Amino acid sequence: MSAQTRGMGIWSYAERLPRIAEQHRVTLGEGNAPLVRSSRIGETIGIPNLYFKLESLNPTGSYKDRIAALMLSLAREHGKDACIGTTSGNAGASIAAYAARAGIPYHVYVQENIVPSKLEQILVHRAQVYRVKGMGFDPHIGTQVFETVLAKAKANNWEPAVTAFAYAPLAMEAVKTISYEIREQLGAPDAVFVPVGGGGLFAGIHKGFADLHAEGAIARLPRMAACQSAGCANLANAWKQGLSKPLPGGSTSLISGIQVSSPPDADLVFAALKESRGNAYALQDEDTWLWQERLAVEEGIFCEPAGAIGLAGAAKAAREGTIGPDDKVVIVVTGAGFKDVQRTKAMTDQIQVPFIEANDM
Ligand SMILES: *Cc1c(COP(=O)(O)O)cnc(C)c1O
Repeated sequence: MSAQTRGMGIWSYAERLPRIAEQHRVTLGEGNAPLVRSSRIGETIGIPNLYFKLESLNPTGSYKDRIAALMLSLAREHGKDACIGTTSGNAGASIAAYAARAGIPYHVYVQENIVPSKLEQILVHRAQVYRVKGMGFDPHIGTQVFETVLAKAKANNWEPAVTAFAYAPLAMEAVKTISYEIREQLGAPDAVFVPVGGGGLFAGIHKGFADLHAEGAIARLPRMAACQSAGCANLANAWKQGLSKPLPGGSTSLISGIQVSSPPDADLVFAALKESRGNAYALQDEDTWLWQERLAVEEGIFCEPAGAIGLAGAAKAAREGTIGPDDKVVIVVTGAGFKDVQRTKAMTDQIQVPFIEANDM
């Protein structure tokens, strides 16, 4: 790979990331996600200073590309023969693309209920895919799959390709670049609303702001708002009860990307909530779908459901009064609408499209 990455996307923060020789860096143009101000919804919900961080615009349609770029670069830097991981869809699509680019084989174990369009996105890049029974519903199977992947990685000189600090701490450092970009685009927000599945995204964004705070680059830490589906709210419900261990229980959530009932970065999530004086929200799937639709109709932003749950959380926080009209709030829109074609169909199948002759226009 040629030295074309200097100053590009996550690589413009190379000095803040694990050291990767220039010739080992893998890139597809990840990062550099726009931060756009809300044109309508912010005023309506009582948060006039509302911003959307469009991670949906990354090369494969989710912020996971930041992690995958660093992960495959690490695999090259460390001379790994392959990578192996688990996914609910988006990490798989990202890592499959970056593995193809790096010329490294990728073995991936996917959730039983993976969204078909996400599975196809992984297969397009010819990753070796296995679909695992019960993964995505049953926390024990989730943990077992994580552990098996880690053991196989160790035994074979393979890169563990799981997008969680608990399994791939170096690659996860790439998530901090989201916070660095927000700082440059806006300064420090008062609050950041983030979808939470495994918790790595949430923890990484907090870590990025904590770095900036420690350096004196921002005056205070943004309050971190963790948004989970009520059908898989092991962290949010524990937080509300004053606990700092996830509650047991499986997932009945229909929101792809955050159906993680054994969140590997739970401890980091609770620490970030405490340190940032944050809050956690459990949102009904119907509520998230509604905000997904409103983002499309009122803001022109087409995201997958997980990308809208942050907005569902912010709307709830505004209703409850924990976020006020003076707060500068960022919603991390994590994934693109085209990723979940089933959902797009459900959003539009009531709409009649007249089929007409050109003469009848
Ligand atoms: C992975 C993912 C999340 C959740 O990230 P975690 O680190 O698992 O909490 C949220 N939204 C989208 C679109 C994702 O792909």
